[in-house]
Amino acid sequence: DAAGTAQIGVTGLAVMGRNLARNLARHGFRVALHNRTNARTESLMHEHGDEGDFVPSESLTDFVASLAKPRAIIIMVKAGSATDAVIEELVPLLDEGDIVIDCGNAHFADTRRREHDLAERGLHFVGAGVSGGEEGALNGPSIMPGGSDEAYQKLGPIFESIAADVDGTPCCVHVGPDGAGHFVKMVHNGIEYADMQLIAEAYDLLRSGLDATPAEIADIFRDWNSGDLESFLIEITADVLAHIDAETGKPFLDVVRDQAEQKGTGRWTVQSALDLGVPITGIAEATFALSLSGHADQRKAAAKTFGDDGKAGTLGSDRDQFIEDVRKALYASKVVAYAQGFDQIRAGSDEYGWNIDRGAMATIWRGGCIIRARFLNRIVEAYDADPDLSSLLVAPYFAGAVSNGVNSWRRVVVAAAQAGIPTPAFSSSLAYFDGLRRTRLPAALIQGLRDNFGAHTYQRVDKEGSFHTMWGADK
Ligand code: NAP
Repeated sequence: DAAGTAQIGVTGLAVMGRNLARNLARHGFRVALHNRTNARTESLMHEHGDEGDFVPSESLTDFVASLAKPRAIIIMVKAGSATDAVIEELVPLLDEGDIVIDCGNAHFADTRRREHDLAERGLHFVGAGVSGGEEGALNGPSIMPGGSDEAYQKLGPIFESIAADVDGTPCCVHVGPDGAGHFVKMVHNGIEYADMQLIAEAYDLLRSGLDATPAEIADIFRDWNSGDLESFLIEITADVLAHIDAETGKPFLDVVRDQAEQKGTGRWTVQSALDLGVPITGIAEATFALSLSGHADQRKAAAKTFGDDGKAGTLGSDRDQFIEDVRKALYASKVVAYAQGFDQIRAGSDEYGWNIDRGAMATIWRGGCIIRARFLNRIVEAYDADPDLSSLLVAPYFAGAVSNGVNSWRRVVVAAAQAGIPTPAFSSSLAYFDGLRRTRLPAALIQGLRDNFGAHTYQRVDKEGSFHTMWGADK
């Protein structure tokens, strides 16, 4: 009789839940299984039941009864109201001290609300970000759990054993209380957006500026992947670029529609950054670039009015130099995107009292997740050397990398503007860098305007206090 013996349960057995359950079973845990539609549970048992010690249940009541106390139950269903529906159904069946874990892509504010509600009922609620898609869920994701210390004491060993592993360190750490884990997962996804947009702009520069073929650009990315830029996304960019569509024999890229949607987490990252007052321009530009791509009718009208005069092949007077410039501009812009993302993590941590260790976040993103990259080791080192670092950009290694690349970065942005190739993320990252290092910004004029039209007052550089000028008195 398996009643009351399963060590952990998973409800929600679509791609993510099924693979997470298999991962848990492969690591020797006895895993209780449940899904609203039993056919999914049955198909998992049918196809993979022999991979480990599963305890399937058709009803939620039997599922709960199959778990050892205190129970640990992972919910892996569609984010949003489905998660609330499952929690509502589950909670009356649980006992004090049980742990409910939401591994879906929840908004951190929902996680804070759910944690608060369940705590009042004597239950632990852990919002855990899981990155790495279905492959990661099966073979080792990066896991970002929030929630109480007490809950992590029980869950930590389980999650750390199934997470990806880099040099003997698991890609899982207790991020902080309540919504901290889902917040960090959200920023992670925002950075992923920025990373992909920068890669797309680099591709566009090489394709339109040099008239290079996708296959040639694939080789360039492959070469880049052996240096500082080495990362999962650069690696798969080469694969996607080299791919030939079987049906037409054309480069795969040329048969794909150039319209992308911006899904939940990118938008949430930008919304949260606005609330927190953190300039995450790289992530915002990436999100808006996707919005622009989706406005097909407007694009058509503008192309008709102005023409698409992308000057193909005009940037190649020194081809090798241009390729190297794009590489350096990509790296510098990437540093900016990460610096901004880590600023947002610090601001969220301060706002909500999470005490997030930024170096630890870089550590758990080194494996399992989509933004895994060699360069994260450098971020870990930067926060090791100075946990209170004001910006990643001023850490010696990154300051060196950006200084070394700044001339290339400027050449690329100028050339792109002249050739009419849009580079929103490259350009705004450079503008952010120039704004950050500027000793005096034109915000003084804005303060003057506000005081003029709205008596908003201003502060002076030479004395303390708030001042207001009697505008017009000297007319
Ligand atoms: P999904 O398509 O987001 O959701 C399908 C699952 O949710 C099914 O098990 C479905 O049950 C269940 N469900 C939906 N509404 C429900 C309700 N009202 N009550 C009970 N169950 C309900 O599945 P997924 O792609 O595996 O993703 C699961 C979660 O992981 C999501 O939050 C997603 O955002 C997150 N995530 C996904 C990825 C990814 O790469 N796919 C990566 C990271 C995180 P039925 O079978 O009965 O319909």
